[in-house]
Amino acid sequence: MIEKINHIAIAVNDLESHIPFYRDILHLPFDGIEEVPEQKVRVALFKIGSMHIELLEPLSEDSPISKFLNKNGPGLHHIAFQTDSIQNELKRLSDLNIRLIDPVPREGARQSKIAFIHPASSGGILTELCQSDE
Ligand code: ZN
Repeated sequence: MIEKINHIAIAVNDLESHIPFYRDILHLPFDGIEEVPEQKVRVALFKIGSMHIELLEPLSEDSPISKFLNKNGPGLHHIAFQTDSIQNELKRLSDLNIRLIDPVPREGARQSKIAFIHPASSGGILTELCQSDE
């Protein structure tokens, strides 16, 4: 079951020049920076209600975020929906012939399990499912 939006992720070239807008202008509580080497990104986390805004900065040129920035420039990267069982959701979507980037969940930020749905099956917006124990 999809429960709520967990986070909205925005691709940026460098975190330090984008953090002040969210922290100092919008006054969102800043939860710090986390590296997710598996996805080759550095993530700045801001809490807003029960969800997060994530700023994603590529750690290397072969990061998926580098490819996104080269193609689109900075901006909305993906929307993540929280589910109580990522395994059940992936099975359900795959039975509906929804195209999955990750048929098997992988590690995300904040000890979550994540899987991406291909934009071809979600109206052009990269969509993530995540299951976190928070
Ligand atoms: Zn995400």
